[in-house]
Amino acid sequence: KHTPSLTQSPLNLRRPIIMTHSLNIAVIGAGTSGLLTTRELLRENHRVTVFEKSNRLGGTWLYEPQVEAGDVLHLDPNRSVVHSSLYSSLRTNLPRPLMGFSYYSFEDKSYGDPRMFPGHEEVLKFLQDFANEFGITEVIRFNSEVVRVESLDSDFVVEWRTMEVGSVAEVFDAVVVCSGHHTEPRIADDVPGIEEWSRKQTHSHNYRVPEPYRDQVVVVIGNGPSALDISREIATLAKEVHLSSRSLNVKVSKLDVFENIWQHSKINRVYDDGTIFFQDGDSIEADIILHCTGYKFHFPFLRTNNIVHVDDNRVGPLYKHVFPPQLAPRLAFVGLTYNQGVHFQMFELQSKWVALALSGKISLPSEDEMLADVHKHYREMEENGNPKRYTHSLGFKLEYLDWLAAQVGLRIDDRLKVICRNLLEQWISHPNDFRDVFQL
Ligand code: FAD
Repeated sequence: KHTPSLTQSPLNLRRPIIMTHSLNIAVIGAGTSGLLTTRELLRENHRVTVFEKSNRLGGTWLYEPQVEAGDVLHLDPNRSVVHSSLYSSLRTNLPRPLMGFSYYSFEDKSYGDPRMFPGHEEVLKFLQDFANEFGITEVIRFNSEVVRVESLDSDFVVEWRTMEVGSVAEVFDAVVVCSGHHTEPRIADDVPGIEEWSRKQTHSHNYRVPEPYRDQVVVVIGNGPSALDISREIATLAKEVHLSSRSLNVKVSKLDVFENIWQHSKINRVYDDGTIFFQDGDSIEADIILHCTGYKFHFPFLRTNNIVHVDDNRVGPLYKHVFPPQLAPRLAFVGLTYNQGVHFQMFELQSKWVALALSGKISLPSEDEMLADVHKHYREMEENGNPKRYTHSLGFKLEYLDWLAAQVGLRIDDRLKVICRNLLEQWISHPNDFRDVFQL
């Protein structure tokens, strides 16, 4: 079978090869990004330590049946955090060819679920196999949560904590942050009246199964993949499901194939007696509000004297979403970009870029040039009316992927691009059943 992949480009040959020096590098997180980064760093003969707060690898793909306690509007920063936001029935929203790596295909593997869009268990097994096959598991320190990454003059202090030993601080030459960004819920907290809403409200981060919604009237805020999947699953048990999206200016309508799902525009106001008024003029009495409104970037361990900070979900300044110009390449972020359609190979390219930059095989532009590029990106976003919070969304365009590939002397296979475009068309034309109608 032909697997879409990265092919060697002649660009590589033009790059000056500088002697590699082996660095002592900390990777934070053993999800997809951390595993790929570790593989690339090991390939470059760096000494790598992966810190993983969980007792297993896989990150997002490690399904956790338990949910976090507490009120989603007033999250306690000291709560016991559940990392994964997967729900029990989750199937990938990308087909198999887009879920593998260029040199390690997912397309020709099956662990019991041969579907083109398999269940989450299948992805976890794929990642476990990948980590074992490339000696990555051996360099992971499990149950080790990083609580401080502080930049010194030419290196970093990484403080990490385990139940047995307590806190330990170690010095590293470089740090790659791969801690994920689907854990800290973003809430639609600007809905008028939401602070006074006395009935239940929760976030998709805390959604696992539809049973708690039986016979309830549920309002689902959002229109991303989770909102669409979850609303359809809840509708099998709930009395009514009302989808509300602030980006859709529509009249209230019942979704074709469902008896009990309605699509609304944004919410005008909610009242503490359970009444909800939508902008489309309709009103209902609801039992539960379920926010499917995405997540916040959150790096509680970073101490960089504000060199890198998060402002309205913009992590910055970051050159091409990866390197903070002032600390590059010693500090890097892999896995921040989203809305692209081919996450895994994008993370692969980001991690290759980081590994080669740390080895000195690729030189980055000067600090000023990188900063200028970041500000150009911000200006373009503003001119196009894109809010700051979408800084790391790639809007399903493939240019960034091509750009990254060129940096590391590779080329994205045309087949992968064709699959991406087909998928996007199916998402738009068949939001209810794109997984069933999609064909390679
Ligand atoms: P994560 O998988 O979140 O891994 C981060 C790791 O860092 C975790 O193991 C965590 O425990 C660890 N960590 C965090 N903080 C610390 C710390 N302080 N110290 C030590 N360890 C720490 N992508 C797709 O390609 N296809 C899909 O179908 C798809 N479906 C998705 C469905 C849902 C519901 C969600 C939420 C995401 C989905 N994604 C999908 C996106 C998916 O999250 C990414 O593709 C990818 O798995 C992210 O990998 P990551 O390594 O960047 O982050």
